[in-house]
Amino acid sequence: MKYIDEYRDGRLARRVAAQIAAEARPDRRYRLMEFCGGHTHAIFRYGVQDLLPASVEMVHGPGCPVCVLPVGRLDMAIRIAKRPEVILCSYGDMLRVPGSRRTSLLKAKAEGADVRMVYSARDALELARAHPEREVVFFAIGFETTTPPTAVALRQAAAEGLPNFSVFCNHVLTPAAITNILESPDVREIGTVPIDGFLGPAHVSVVIGSQPYAFFAEEYRKPVVIAGFEPLDVMQSVLMLIRQLNDGRAEVENQYTRAVTPDGNLKAKTLVAEVFELRRTFEWRGLGVVPYSALRIKQAYAEFDAERRFAEPYVRARENRECLCPAILRGAAKPLECKLFGTVCTPENPIGSCMVSDEGACAAYYAYGRRLKVAASA
Ligand code: SF4
Repeated sequence: MKYIDEYRDGRLARRVAAQIAAEARPDRRYRLMEFCGGHTHAIFRYGVQDLLPASVEMVHGPGCPVCVLPVGRLDMAIRIAKRPEVILCSYGDMLRVPGSRRTSLLKAKAEGADVRMVYSARDALELARAHPEREVVFFAIGFETTTPPTAVALRQAAAEGLPNFSVFCNHVLTPAAITNILESPDVREIGTVPIDGFLGPAHVSVVIGSQPYAFFAEEYRKPVVIAGFEPLDVMQSVLMLIRQLNDGRAEVENQYTRAVTPDGNLKAKTLVAEVFELRRTFEWRGLGVVPYSALRIKQAYAEFDAERRFAEPYVRARENRECLCPAILRGAAKPLECKLFGTVCTPENPIGSCMVSDEGACAAYYAYGRRLKVAASA
């Protein structure tokens, strides 16, 4: 299959691994954060970490949209879903994430709330058209990749004058999260690990382009390589980061040239700017309150904003104390350090969001890396 098979070629992977082994200095460590959960899964699914020398450590980042949503926002969605007039729609993963007191949207559904799984914002629009007597709320989550389709749905609802459609907006921004990882006093207090360079997101960068990362490279002297999601993409990007670090360079490089340009998708960015504006603050699981790190719906589309329509307050909620998701999301812990991993917490019975989503680090370790736990405890 074009653009897939050639990026999973084992022979080529061994060649790149040999280059990495030759160029990574044994007397230093390379702590490289892969921002995206998609990269974490590629690393585990294809055994990339096993091909890297001991001096190269992959640190998992917060780039999983389901994982970073704090319990308080999920509780808001559950309260909205429990209103008798509401049909609440969201992506499948979100339904299983535990909220406060082990509730979830799925449990709310079992108790009678009308919660439906959809594949897109468009599906939610169709439900609103089909049920004019109900309030259809789209629970929108995600980074810059999923924001444009939500903007399209809002514009469409406005054009059609669909009074029973609204969006509960939880779209978040990648550059703000990376800045927070690098400089926030909060994160420093709660602990993090030193990071030498970043594997930048693939799909997000298709939309926003490579330019927004120039700031980290210049201001924090951290190299960034925008990396595709196939195993050879990841390995080539690791090699590019090692070369930058060895040379003392801190630049933005683009490995994923088949899809990412410096400016990104201008049409999508214009659309997003028309419908959304920055929130002053937004709480992230693991990162705490991050300034200007999320979007809200602009006044021009206020009538389709579920937060204004239902006036549900945001109440900060406590995480399950035993769950290490917050530390894992900021790169300060690994899933195998959690004592609930694979015993109390499994994909069938997730205690934290990192075990739910396909992009969650705990789910990746559970699917592909459990043998590491067995080896560690042997
Ligand atoms: S294994 Fe479960 S409880 Fe532990 S950090 Fe991961 S999601 Fe949280």
